[in-house]
Amino acid sequence: MKSFDVVVIGSGPGGYVSAIRCAQLGLKTAIIEKYNTLGGTCLNVGCIPSKALLDSSHHYHNAVNHFEKHGIDIKEVKVNFEQMIARKDEVVAQTSGGINFLMDKNKVTMFQGVGSFKDATHINIASAEGDIEIIEAKHTIIATGSKPASLPFIKIDKKRVISSTEALRLKEIPKHLIVIGGGVIGLELGSVYKRLGADVSVIEYMPKIVPTMDGMLQKELQKSLKKQGVKFYTSHKVTSVTTSDKEVIVIANDKKGNPIEFKGDYCLVSVGRKPYTDGLMAENAGITINERGQIQTNEHLQTTSPNIFAIGDVITGAMLAHKAEEEGTLVAEYIAGQKPHINYNLIPGVVYTWPEVAAVGQTEEQLKEASVEYKVGSFPMRALGRARASMDIEGQVKVLADAKTDEILGVHMIGARAADMIAEAVVAMEFRASSEDVARMSHAHPTFTEAIKEACLAVNGRAIHS
Ligand code: FAD
Ligand code: NAD
Repeated sequence: MKSFDVVVIGSGPGGYVSAIRCAQLGLKTAIIEKYNTLGGTCLNVGCIPSKALLDSSHHYHNAVNHFEKHGIDIKEVKVNFEQMIARKDEVVAQTSGGINFLMDKNKVTMFQGVGSFKDATHINIASAEGDIEIIEAKHTIIATGSKPASLPFIKIDKKRVISSTEALRLKEIPKHLIVIGGGVIGLELGSVYKRLGADVSVIEYMPKIVPTMDGMLQKELQKSLKKQGVKFYTSHKVTSVTTSDKEVIVIANDKKGNPIEFKGDYCLVSVGRKPYTDGLMAENAGITINERGQIQTNEHLQTTSPNIFAIGDVITGAMLAHKAEEEGTLVAEYIAGQKPHINYNLIPGVVYTWPEVAAVGQTEEQLKEASVEYKVGSFPMRALGRARASMDIEGQVKVLADAKTDEILGVHMIGARAADMIAEAVVAMEFRASSEDVARMSHAHPTFTEAIKEACLAVNGRAIHS
């Protein structure tokens, strides 16, 4: 029987990063993946394919709407949707292939099949052909991720009523895409199809879209997407979804309880994701799964079976690739005897719409709720030379700083390149910078990052350009 110091179940960003870190630390490591490609949700049906389609559709949107103003005349701009999907598939294949290379480079043994616990130190690997191999594991890291959630009365038939997975591989551009759930997936994939010419209606149960983000971001993002033509129905409760061959009918009750009917050709259900532990036989190893389906862990991400750990979407916390990666690294280092730490407050959140939305730390609503006294500095993108040069003038940066110490407590931004710019805020907050610290640092001119410096200056009423 093959024996390992660490066996990782699942090869998403949590699992593969964890396997690499284990190997770097000299642990004999194996990884088990049930699919024939590595990379999990993120690489195959999540972060990477969605960003590939967002980038392609963004180019098309710019060509149609902005090229003329830039002085570029193109006779006829057309979408070749088949090619767009094919390019996305190429990006996915290349990226997943890169993980195979990294596994080989780090001498991580790969197994393909469904991993399940025989007991706390033995794992069955069942291949698609029905063969079973048993391996021994001193430590196991569960990184089995998540699957799309739905509502009890909705059947995702994968044809007309779809999850993000099908929305990334449609054969045609929808005429009218009805999106249930105005969270990250609904807005990113809704943006893709809106840019490509679909009518898009977003039905959201809560009064605001992206309900956990700062109020300023909720308002500004909705305003921007509305301008792009996305229709929003907030405070609407979906009560039924029915389909025929070519049509989907969604009924939702508005604020007053009146039923509103939506007719479309596709309905994207994006109401969250649920942890995935099917077939894992966690009970055979004494692992506790909580009432929300998440594997229960302590502060070291150790399950109720001490030599077994769990990370990423299958445990509590934000369902984000970079959160899973940090946890993968933490567990590897903990097993190797180190004392790692994650500051969960500084895991940034990004929505890859255009304008992009990015945030880290506390929202204004959270600070109010916790009765923390704070100061606010905001700076509009339109006041930046760089933003005017590229015609990306929408959005703003908002910095929240402690009223007494001036320590930065939260940064919330919407605008071009916010997804990349948020890293500056993370670094600053990791080093517990004050708004004055950042305000006194030189930011290259002209760049979008100057909005961060200016917002920090604005915290103490000294913005230069507004
Ligand atoms: P996963 O990536 O879900 O990987 C789990 C792996 O385990 C899978 O490959 C699965 O096949 C395998 N597995 C499960 N059970 C077994 C078993 N018993 N045996 C063997 N293998 C098993 N996050 C971001 O940070 N940024 C983004 O831009 C972003 N975009 C997204 C877009 C979409 C459309 C979706 C759906 C998600 C997106 N996410 C994004 C979320 C991100 O994909 C997840 O947070 C991340 O993939 C979680 O990583 P993980 O390692 O925990 O699990
Ligand atoms: P989400 O939690 O972001 O959004 C779900 C939305 O659905 C919320 O706004 C919620 O209020 C709404 N909702 C819930 N029940 C509803 C109902 N009955 N009717 C109408 N609306 C309802 O979830 P998601 O968009 O499905 O994404 C799943 C996960 O994937 C998220 O945790 C997210 O972090 C991750 N993800 C991240 C990125 C990124 O980082 N850019 C991109 C895509 C997905």
